[in-house]
Amino acid sequence: MHIIVLVKQVPDIEKVQFLKDKGWVDRASADSEINPFDLNAVEAAQQMKETLGATVTAISMGPAPAEAVLKEAIARNADRGILLTDEKFAGADTLATSCALAAAIRKAGDFDLLLCGEKTVDGDTSQVGPSVAERLGIPHLSFVSEISAVAEDRITMVVETASGSVIVESGYPLLITGTKDLNTPRLPTLKDKLRARKAEVEKWSAADLADMADLSKFGQEGSATWVDSISVPPEKKRKGEVLKGEDSAGKLVAALDKDGLLKG
Ligand SMILES: Cc1cc2nc3c(=O)[nH]c(=O)nc-3n(C[C@H](O)[C@H](O)[C@H](O)COP(=O)(O)OP(=O)(O)OC[C@H]3O[C@@H](n4cnc5c(N)ncnc54)[C@H](O)[C@@H]3O)c2cc1C
Repeated sequence: MHIIVLVKQVPDIEKVQFLKDKGWVDRASADSEINPFDLNAVEAAQQMKETLGATVTAISMGPAPAEAVLKEAIARNADRGILLTDEKFAGADTLATSCALAAAIRKAGDFDLLLCGEKTVDGDTSQVGPSVAERLGIPHLSFVSEISAVAEDRITMVVETASGSVIVESGYPLLITGTKDLNTPRLPTLKDKLRARKAEVEKWSAADLADMADLSKFGQEGSATWVDSISVPPEKKRKGEVLKGEDSAGKLVAALDKDGLLKG
């Protein structure tokens, strides 16, 4: 069984700052880390490796420092790490990102299961997983919160929908995106980290994918959307009013009523 996990490097969203005059993310203002949701996908792959003896490949697209997230996946038991890194991939929207990732998946060989996070904490679109599956022509399920049973020919899952949860059984190939509830990612041991540090991450350029996709579909050239301008919304300060005196309750009711908060 071959499982491929997609992992993305994101800035630490709690600390990252914006260059307010330009509206850009100041990437130097915070460390980068593996997208937290992708840790659940990596953990799911690790568990399947333990129970089924699966082979796990982790793939990421990003600039050279994104190699770190593949080392992280290797520390968490991935057998192979592949980084798509090239100027030609830069400026990609989700459409072009999924095109490059799908091409890399085809090149990485036959697979049974593709695992993604439900979303990233920076882009936050949840589009990449389903888009990759559509490009590969395979079924996909988003927002999987539990893998109830897994075997070499089928998998049973709990999938979250807008109206509740459903239990789905599927064969392979299949792409799933996992929520935070999927599992609790374990921390790699020091030994695992040292092993990952020495491991080699394969670097693929756009030209390496020439047999798998039309290169004009990558990066900014292949993007259907572009950013015209970005602005940071003005910070709204909380308004406070202290009500004093005997008629405070009446004043409070009147204030709530004025703001339409007592209707119904
Ligand atoms: C017009 C435009 C221009 C852009 N230009 C740039 C740019 O120059 N540089 C830049 O960094 N970003 C750029 N972006 C953002 C970029 O498109 C997104 O970061 C990327 O498509 C992933 O989307 P997302 O973060 O919403 O992922 P989601 O769809 O929320 O992610 C879901 C899952 O897909 C997988 N995944 C997502 N992205 C990757 C990846 N790169 N590698 C491996 N797995 C992945 C992960 O498993 C993740 O959990 C641009 C976006 C737009 C719209």
